[in-house]
Amino acid sequence: MISDGSFRLDGKLALVTGASRGIGYFLAKELAGRGAHVIAVARTVGGLEELDDEITAAGGTATLVPLDLTDMSAIDRLGGSIHERWGKLDVLVANAGVLGTISPIGHVEAKVFDKLMNINVSSVWRLIRTTDPLLKLSDAGRAILLSSGAAHSARAYWGPYAASKAAVEALGRSWADETRQTRLRVNSVNPGATRTAMRAQAVPGEDPETLPTPAEVAAKIVLLADPALDATGKIYDVRADKLLSYNNPS
Ligand code: NDP
Repeated sequence: MISDGSFRLDGKLALVTGASRGIGYFLAKELAGRGAHVIAVARTVGGLEELDDEITAAGGTATLVPLDLTDMSAIDRLGGSIHERWGKLDVLVANAGVLGTISPIGHVEAKVFDKLMNINVSSVWRLIRTTDPLLKLSDAGRAILLSSGAAHSARAYWGPYAASKAAVEALGRSWADETRQTRLRVNSVNPGATRTAMRAQAVPGEDPETLPTPAEVAAKIVLLADPALDATGKIYDVRADKLLSYNNPS
């Protein structure tokens, strides 16, 4: 067990990307429900407002940041604003992502590939770059990067998405190694197939009722925000409920 789940996050600040729907929406609710002030990032204002209403109704607080993560300088500015207003960040959840197209590698359009890499990889690096100093100012900085089983499964037609998630994990592992001696803990997550819009796009014929809900999955992922968590540089497999180590040959 990675955490008994009894922790609180009162007085803490959490940044969640892709908070307008799906797994990110429910992660934002989980974090706010434990007392964190949530900075909720996505493009869809309606989804962010719905989240804000739910968080407020439950007694929590949020700041909404409508932002397109392909706008790299906007990510830099967000880091600057967090520094000015709060002086630190306690939890980063890099959750926003896109699927691209599921098709043979040679059929993928260049603009689709570039956009996928921009959102799934470059924006995550840019977030890491801007939040790393802020997370180190926290007494228990936690970074949670959303990966996928696709990063390891090498399935036909999933090439670009799989490559993007393998890149996210590689970034996370290097970052974890660099920060091992600090209070920052960095881990990736494989949520497993989850009942969201992305999954419906990926596997349209599937009965969504057979899949765990994003609320169920988020209730597990949030355990990586526990201030008592010691693990870093690992991947949390939600379905198996296991924190897995990578083989590090050196
Ligand atoms: P959804 O498609 O339901 O939600 C994706 C979120 O990312 C939305 O909030 C969307 O907000 C945001 N987003 C996408 N593009 C941008 C952008 N350019 N700028 C800002 N925000 C953006 O996805 P899921 O909840 O299913 O997935 C969440 C994460 O989990 C992803 O990283 C995904 O790869 C991963 N994952 C999901 C699995 C599943 O089965 N669902 C399985 C394995 C991994 P908006 O459109 O409002 O901008």
